[in-house]
Amino acid sequence: MYATGQMLNTLKRIVQEVNAAADFEEALSLLVDRVREALSTEVCSVFVFDRETHQYVLMATRGLNQAAVGVEIPYTQGLVGLVGSREEPINLEDAASHPRFHYIAATGEERFKSFLGVPIVHHRRVMGVLVVQQSTQRRFSEEDEAFLVTLSAQLAAVMAHAEATGRLNAAVAHTGGGPLYFSGAGAAPGVAIGTAVVMSPKAHLESVPDRVADNIEEDIQAFKDAIHATRTEIQQVGKRMSKDLRPEERALFDVYVQMLNDDTLGNEVISKIRDGQWAQGALRQVILGYVQHFEMIEDSYLRERATDIRDLGVRVLAKLQSTSVEYNFPDDTVLVAEEISPAMFAEVPEEKLRGLISVRGSANSHAAILARARGIPTVMGVVDLPCMQLDGVQVIVDGYQGRLYTDPGSELLMQYRRLAKEEQAMLRGFESLKKLPSETTDGHRLPLFVNTGLTTDSVRSRERGAEGVGLYRTEVPFMMMDRFPSEEEQRDIYRQHLATFAPDPVTMRTLDVGGDKALSYFPINEDNPFLGWRGIRVTLDHPELFLQQVRAMLKASNGLNNLHVMLPMVSNVTEIEEASHLIFRAYKEVTDEGYDIQMPKVGVMVEVPAAVYQIKAIAERVDFLSVGSNDLTQYLLAVDRNNPRVADVYDSLHPSVLIALDAIVRSAHEVGRPVSVCGEMAGNPASAVILMAMGYDMLSMNATHLLWVKSVIRQVSLAWSKELLANIMTLDNAPLIRSTVELAFEKAGLGRLLNPTKRL
Ligand code: PEP
Ligand code: MG
Repeated sequence: MYATGQMLNTLKRIVQEVNAAADFEEALSLLVDRVREALSTEVCSVFVFDRETHQYVLMATRGLNQAAVGVEIPYTQGLVGLVGSREEPINLEDAASHPRFHYIAATGEERFKSFLGVPIVHHRRVMGVLVVQQSTQRRFSEEDEAFLVTLSAQLAAVMAHAEATGRLNAAVAHTGGGPLYFSGAGAAPGVAIGTAVVMSPKAHLESVPDRVADNIEEDIQAFKDAIHATRTEIQQVGKRMSKDLRPEERALFDVYVQMLNDDTLGNEVISKIRDGQWAQGALRQVILGYVQHFEMIEDSYLRERATDIRDLGVRVLAKLQSTSVEYNFPDDTVLVAEEISPAMFAEVPEEKLRGLISVRGSANSHAAILARARGIPTVMGVVDLPCMQLDGVQVIVDGYQGRLYTDPGSELLMQYRRLAKEEQAMLRGFESLKKLPSETTDGHRLPLFVNTGLTTDSVRSRERGAEGVGLYRTEVPFMMMDRFPSEEEQRDIYRQHLATFAPDPVTMRTLDVGGDKALSYFPINEDNPFLGWRGIRVTLDHPELFLQQVRAMLKASNGLNNLHVMLPMVSNVTEIEEASHLIFRAYKEVTDEGYDIQMPKVGVMVEVPAAVYQIKAIAERVDFLSVGSNDLTQYLLAVDRNNPRVADVYDSLHPSVLIALDAIVRSAHEVGRPVSVCGEMAGNPASAVILMAMGYDMLSMNATHLLWVKSVIRQVSLAWSKELLANIMTLDNAPLIRSTVELAFEKAGLGRLLNPTKRL
């Protein structure tokens, strides 16, 4: 019987140890050791499911014959196979009497009577089976079973990660094997072949990649300098604060200085640099090694010291990073990061950036949206990617299928080069559409606008034939700065946008921060950021920011008068009234200052389910509506658009989303207001056709997809689209809707346009 705390501690310790293992084999061997100990049993073994051969392989055991490691069991055989296929624990006092018992001679398991096996499941996939056995007839208790189930649930992710790392190591060691890839969400279509450059946020130990030292002696010197600088800094801070510190706090400073004087830590780092690892990577390895070691200590005082060591490591790292040279980006850079931020990819010279890979986030994260706008093939949410080991590795980014191939063989490279060529040819084919109208074969006009964020987007979009800007995400320039931009700075940025498109309209959305869009200089820390202080809620609470932004927009429109203002995240009419009041106030101020400007059209984004049910009340208060289908999908389906774990539940073709979209356009038209869609689904040819059929007046999308969508619009008729719409509105699930649409496109000879990688 376990005391609750004791069980938790044991669990935590095992998971941590396994997590810290150098490789997959070590992880498994630690696992069986510790579980055997924790359950005081004679045998613990782990069987891993081999996806290729469909066999369970005995990968590690304590208690069975070691020679049996490597033995394979077909997935249909024995108790192990049964645990796997039932995806449930099996607990037997006398295993041999079970009809599915299958004795494997090599293991010597005939001595063991009792058996408890639990499946290890990661993302619905059975990764393996964990088994404990005992020679005496013993029924493992309910607590034992609960312990093993809990452990296996936690270990699944650790194992998946270790397995992926192992696969990567194996592939690096002997290239030429089958293609190795990691899956994520295809976030921006296209193919990129290039060299991975792993970027880490500053002073974040965990994300420092492994990298070969360019110059060992220089790296050693840089490390010594960083240690010296950190030591001096700590001593100075310690001195300055000594009066205010309690003795135990002062002692902490002494401990730090002592640790830095102590040769052990420094020598370990230097020896790793001598082995060829660059200074930052060597520091990460040593510090995290110590941290893990300390975190496993039972004594709580000593365990706390892990925090001190990490803190020290971060300080030294910051010093190293402040002196280290900037990134050296190869001409075919594929940027890889734990979490890609817009600022990160702005750091890579535009002509060198080929692709983007992010461990976190998903296809509807804002980083992905910006990547799409720039046409950079991107895969997000590659959760099992051992990012730190990728630096300098040749990779293929398949933004269509959401795959990252590492060290591809020549065969795969050839296929992808061919695909990239075809893709280029397809894009060149679109060029001729630039000046042609966006019009169906039966004469229905559907204006295609563009979504912008970066200033460079606007010129590019104009060149691609956009008829206006349907959504300018003004928060993007805010995110590139380290303070709020001044009114003048904003005015200059906005002016460029307005001037590029004049006389066509530019719809500027007021600042939409919060959720996954953070400003480094205006942190918002919330448990539930997507349900929190976001968009209009923030700016109404800060009228000074709102007024300054609207004034800048109005002044920028001087003489052009093509400004439209749009409000994000509106969930009630009061917000519209308050915002309209502020806009009018800003207008009055600016015209009083002598500007001769027309009052801009004001619109609202429909992004929250509450707005869907109040479309008429909202529409009557404004000039236009635009559906933010990214957020609307997130809120209707209760799926965080940024969370890769639930990425496959996020689907804009979910019938409920389609029913809402249909209702919005009908209600808006009933009160005579135009309504557009500016979420990502507008830029997908399949959903664009559906939205057109529903009656949307305009679609606004990223510049990269604009001609792609136009090419489809020009090849279908409105009548055909309406028939397709009527068809899918009778269906009650998204996969069926998707395949119905695909089939219709295939039949119309447009299948290739929907999925260019289909032939791979
Ligand atoms: C949306 O939510 O659909 C939208 C266009 O806004 P954003 O993606 O910037 O949240
Ligand atoms: Mg939104």
